[in-house]
Amino acid sequence: MFHVEHGAPGGVPATPGAAWRRVIPGAGPAARLVAPQARAVLLLAVVLLLAGCAGIRSVRLLGPGASGLERVRPGVYVDPAMAAPQRDAFAADLDAGRRRAADFYGGLVSSPTVVACASMACYRRFGGVGRKGVCRNGAILLSPDGLTPVIVAHEWSHAELAARVGQLRTWWRVPQWFDEGIAVLLSRDPEYTEEAWETATDNGANVPALSELESLRGWLRVTGKDGKTKQLSYGTARHEVAAWHRAAGPDGFRQLIANLRNGGDFLESYARAAKPGNRPACSTWNVPAETGPVGARDGSAAQRRIGDAKPPRGPGGR
Ligand SMILES: [Zn+2]
Repeated sequence: MFHVEHGAPGGVPATPGAAWRRVIPGAGPAARLVAPQARAVLLLAVVLLLAGCAGIRSVRLLGPGASGLERVRPGVYVDPAMAAPQRDAFAADLDAGRRRAADFYGGLVSSPTVVACASMACYRRFGGVGRKGVCRNGAILLSPDGLTPVIVAHEWSHAELAARVGQLRTWWRVPQWFDEGIAVLLSRDPEYTEEAWETATDNGANVPALSELESLRGWLRVTGKDGKTKQLSYGTARHEVAAWHRAAGPDGFRQLIANLRNGGDFLESYARAAKPGNRPACSTWNVPAETGPVGARDGSAAQRRIGDAKPPRGPGGR
């Protein structure tokens, strides 16, 4: 599974707002007329440049019909090579995955285009990386192995978080481990159980620090080649976010999203959203006590390392 294409490595300015302002001057009626379109084109250009070859191929996701895919319902395209029984099965799995994401978020505000491939050749042609699915350019792209409720729900979670928080804010401010942790948690992915994580981490003794899972580059490093150590990235993200969500509940989750949408600091908002007296057992917080109901806590070595996370600085690090 490879789900990290909502961010990309590369050299984005540390203060992206300044870059936008330089390129799109706000003064004058002409500038006001072109600004939204120019911003969209510029955003797309930056995304594609950062994403490399696979990103350029993913331009096809903007118009799957023009690349030969069949539109089977509004916003849903399938590979013509997909047989009728497989299409029927996918329709049911798509609905189930979408419902899974909707249940967790309390409804959906996103409506990503969904592209379902019957071969890895199709998947690669649309810019797919990894083995199962990606979410990019406002679309969910699924490989033959990704035509399941779990992967649909996982990728839809990425689309939904970006829609609720804002795509740029998600790149800039949301750590990879949170975005992925929510996706693994809500999709109920059977590959990432507490037992599998305990085995992979020697009962939590070999847990990577969340700061190592913050950027896309760090995430890929910990995940390992061909996902060899994915329990340390996806599994640790699920473990952390599941504990947090048990403490924060759906209301805390919505509160965190609202704070991020309003430009709030991630770690501060994350800590605030967990109810006092009901904190996750596994997490420590490096947020000053006066900024929220939870302060730094003592814990095991693994716990202290988990509490090590720092907010991201921009999509250049994702
Ligand atoms: Zn993912």
